[in-house]
Amino acid sequence: MLIVMKFGGTSVGSAERIAEAAQLAIHEAAKGHRVVVVTSAMSGITNQLVAAAESAARGEWNPQIRDQLYERHARVAEDLIADPDIRQAALETIARRLDRVEKLCYGLSMVHELTPRLLDVISGMGECLSAPLLAGAIASRGIASHAVEATELIVTNDRFGAAEPIMDLTRERCQAWLQQVTADKILPVVTGFIGATVEGVTTTLGRGGSDYSASILGASLDADEVWIWTDVNGVMSANPAEVPEARTLREISYSEAAELAYYGAKVLHYKTILPACRQNIPVLILNSFNPTDPGTRVTLTGRPSSRGVKAVTSIRNVSLVTISGRGMQGIPGIAAKAFAAVAAEQANVLMISQASSENNLCLVVGSAEASRVVRSLRSALELDLLQGHVDDIIQDDSVAVVAVVGDRMKGTPGIAGNVFAALGTSGVNVIAISQGSSELNISLIVGENDAADAVRSIHRAFRLDQPSQP
Ligand code: ADP
Ligand code: ASP
Ligand code: MG
Repeated sequence: MLIVMKFGGTSVGSAERIAEAAQLAIHEAAKGHRVVVVTSAMSGITNQLVAAAESAARGEWNPQIRDQLYERHARVAEDLIADPDIRQAALETIARRLDRVEKLCYGLSMVHELTPRLLDVISGMGECLSAPLLAGAIASRGIASHAVEATELIVTNDRFGAAEPIMDLTRERCQAWLQQVTADKILPVVTGFIGATVEGVTTTLGRGGSDYSASILGASLDADEVWIWTDVNGVMSANPAEVPEARTLREISYSEAAELAYYGAKVLHYKTILPACRQNIPVLILNSFNPTDPGTRVTLTGRPSSRGVKAVTSIRNVSLVTISGRGMQGIPGIAAKAFAAVAAEQANVLMISQASSENNLCLVVGSAEASRVVRSLRSALELDLLQGHVDDIIQDDSVAVVAVVGDRMKGTPGIAGNVFAALGTSGVNVIAISQGSSELNISLIVGENDAADAVRSIHRAFRLDQPSQP
């Protein structure tokens, strides 16, 4: 079996954690499986790199940052890699990469302009620092291993900060590379999060994107399984930080996993599922702090639950954009113009809702994109505003989206009623609702301060803390 194994930031957050990650990879390789490891940056490092780039762009580059980053990685190398040659090689690689970060930040502090392209080079460096440590840990345990930069493997477009893979080129490179590492009997450690354009310019796949890297590589290598090692026992019925009684879902479908990730379940990057799903590759979410737990298995059919609802998530940092006007009724094309304007901004729309009176149209977009979207809507609907068909376009940043997800919700009557009853009992006011045509998801807009209560009350109402009957 070929397994792509991805380790998240906390799973490689210290010498001890990296040693455990190395052990988990070696353990599978020892059973005769071929293993390709994908690693995140050590926990906190990507944030530090982003902050360093941003402060450098304000003219405040602090050279001590380089030393701090070097110290943290070097201390880990000392504790982790017993073989002095392997350790020295890892340390040299890390020092070279940090020299590059330092030079880039120094340049930034002169020009005061941080482009998305430059931010990708700097923020993507964390994985290039952790990969030599994990590969070194594996190698010093007697298994040949190399750190590999994903810029050699994952070819992407040039949408810096949220690059998309070009799958046919990526597959070509991955297949040739796999032959080589298999022939050389290498257990490779690939950097997550990054890729490169056809011209070789570094890109990143978006924050939390190492999960997506694993799935892209899994698909391109025709892996049998993709394993995501993280710090919880799999995908749970709610965010355990918000709902302590949340429980692990043992098996969910690709569509449930995609929907949960899209609506805020941080345990998976929201784009992770698609490449694996296209090739029907199972994705396992496992806890590196509790590796004997079976975690969650994501498959084509999942294991349907008799309750219909499997999980509830929430997503914050979103804005509600409302286009309203009594004159909107019966005027064709306002919605079409509005969606074209939003699409032109490349904004992700999380939710759309229109009252049957047609007096208003609500959209939920990420807060970072909201002002741009409102500006674009004002310009696209200028004539309708002048003619009074549209009265106003307003933005409300104090909202959250709560999503209730489950494949079997389709055809199970009464679910929406139970959701509203639960929210009513808890005194949560619902601002708007939308049900996708898939009937896999009911999403609601609530006030940001009500989101945690909304999630907990829905979790309770559907008794998601109890095991479900198939
Ligand atoms: P990693 O560093 O391994 O990529 P992340 O921090 O990105 O890990 O994702 C794991 C975290 O996701 C968990 O610690 C948990 O707090 C959070 N989380 C949010 N929603 C869920 C959910 N439904 N199931 C499991 N974890 C969730
Ligand atoms: N290191 C990256 C981040 O923090 C990618 C990842 O960990 O998945 O966003
Ligand atoms: Mg993550």
